[in-house]
Amino acid sequence: MVIAFIVLSCKNETKDNGKLKVVTTTTMITDLVKNIGGDVIEVNGLMGAGVDPHLYKASEGDVSKLHGADIIFYNGLHLEGKLVEVFEKMERQNKTQVPLAESLDENTLIGSEYFASNYDPHVWFDIQYFKQFAEKVTSVLSETDPLNAETFQRNNQMYIEKLEALEMEIKAAIATLPKEKRILVTAHDAFNYFGKAYDFEVVGLQGLSTATEAGVQDVQRLSEFIIDKEVKAIFVESSVPRRTIEALQAAVLSKGAAVTIGGSLYSDALGNEGTEEGTYIGMFKYNVNTILNSLR
Ligand SMILES: [Zn+2]
Repeated sequence: MVIAFIVLSCKNETKDNGKLKVVTTTTMITDLVKNIGGDVIEVNGLMGAGVDPHLYKASEGDVSKLHGADIIFYNGLHLEGKLVEVFEKMERQNKTQVPLAESLDENTLIGSEYFASNYDPHVWFDIQYFKQFAEKVTSVLSETDPLNAETFQRNNQMYIEKLEALEMEIKAAIATLPKEKRILVTAHDAFNYFGKAYDFEVVGLQGLSTATEAGVQDVQRLSEFIIDKEVKAIFVESSVPRRTIEALQAAVLSKGAAVTIGGSLYSDALGNEGTEEGTYIGMFKYNVNTILNSLR
């Protein structure tokens, strides 16, 4: 009994280390905030690898993490559709909440009737927008924790340089694939910003949110498109069940044509923590390599 008591009180002491407590939602945002904040802040990401943010519901543990946070960074534009209510409740507590995608210029966003926000929320697939996320995170952290502002700004500068190098590298790689082969067919419409920024025609089977299932008609229509355009490969996503894309492949095969499954792309979540694909930059390179190798 006594031992348990000591353990508990020790735990509490180490927890309150005076560092700014930041809670993030998706793995992309968690990686970004860790890059900017370094070890002078404490970052708690709610979602892990392979987790679908459209369907994610807050657990009791999440709610207490959110209550204890100084700042909450999330994507917004209704990406985290089932967390909206929780965030609204938090608003009444005067907590700093930052929906990063909602700080972008909405005139440049892709419209969508499927989201309550009226915009496609998958903005992180345009590296220019992710750079703006980095700037926003840096300014919010600096305002809240001015003693560490210099650290945040230095980290941001280094990270922005890496993002710029990433964009140059992937643009050069994509330029080697002939334009007529740049057709990206995936399980759900997560890649519209990627297509717009890096010159791919993008078609998703399931619509913009995984919350709506693909119908038989969608599968038939898309299988004809694949045959017509001679698309070589289609892609599954790490955070969406494989069966939707397998049904599409089966429909193409049943018409006497062929299409392969080109591999699994990271769409709404990064890979496992501690791996290359567990970072935004590693994920982006992995996706582009997978797409180019399969469509070439
Ligand atoms: Zn999505």
